[in-house]
Amino acid sequence: LVSFILYQSDLANNIRTLIYIFGDMLNSVGAAGKVFEYLDREPEVSTKGTLQPETLTGHIRFHNLSFSYPTRQERKVLQDISLELKPGTLTALVGPSGGGKSTCVSLLERFYQPQEGEILLDGQPLQSYQHHYLHRKVAMVGQEPVLFSGSIKDNIAYGLKDCSLEQIHEAARRANAHSFISQLEKGYETDVGERGNQLSGGEKQRIAIARALIREPQVLILDEVTSALDAESELKVQEALNSCRPQTLLVIAHRLKTIERAHQIIVIDEGRVLEQGTHKELMDRKGSYYKLRERLFTEEDTPQ
Ligand code: ATP
Repeated sequence: LVSFILYQSDLANNIRTLIYIFGDMLNSVGAAGKVFEYLDREPEVSTKGTLQPETLTGHIRFHNLSFSYPTRQERKVLQDISLELKPGTLTALVGPSGGGKSTCVSLLERFYQPQEGEILLDGQPLQSYQHHYLHRKVAMVGQEPVLFSGSIKDNIAYGLKDCSLEQIHEAARRANAHSFISQLEKGYETDVGERGNQLSGGEKQRIAIARALIREPQVLILDEVTSALDAESELKVQEALNSCRPQTLLVIAHRLKTIERAHQIIVIDEGRVLEQGTHKELMDRKGSYYKLRERLFTEEDTPQ
């Protein structure tokens, strides 16, 4: 009787396993269908631009731009945005969460096409530039830069066919990363570990800035790290930005302490530009920038 019961429970287990496998197979077929659907998609932004001028100053102008995401067309995420980023200047984009800062950057990178208005680069609409050319000239360093398992040197030179050690060092110097890299036992040959987990947030960002700078972009966009960097790291990233000029620099600033030296600060909320000016001008005006600072600093000072 005992062996019959054991046989029965084995049989039930096997049947259950088969049902699971069959369920997984059905899911896989569904997922494969989605992958093919994805691969067959037509790009939403046109890639037919041909302009590749030899010289570019990196002058950016958003002209009466309005935008809704394709998935929520009824809601305007940006409304009639006009702004200008001049070569050799640092602009900080600030504002409450969900206000539209990242969306501005996504449009600048041409992930989407605005429904109204346009973005001009050196006076020409973004879509008139050749796709790869544009991505070389407008570089983005995200909050969580992706570093690959491999040496720091390879991470900086990533994807470039011919680049000398001197160019790598020079990019690292401009990104304020050279001295910390040189102090590591294996220097530029140091393995950053899987996904760069052997480096601090600020070090990773500076390596990513070096990776962007070696491509000599004319416009550099940095999404500032939200999590607390130690004061020294924060200063080093800030110094890296200062030595980047004459590029046009745009920083999405989450922590307002770091952007007081920006040439202009643009406050965006609910998809509109509320204010723009220097730190001093905006502080004197006591408007939305002033209030945003007060609110953020009170939150930072409040013990959790
Ligand atoms: P944060 O400081 O939190 O990063 P943000 O100012 O960068 O915020 P955005 O990310 O630009 O704000 O978001 C603006 C609005 O657009 C938000 O209401 C957000 O929910 C919405 N949004 C962002 N990405 C998408 C998307 N891919 N599809 C639909 N709506 C989106």
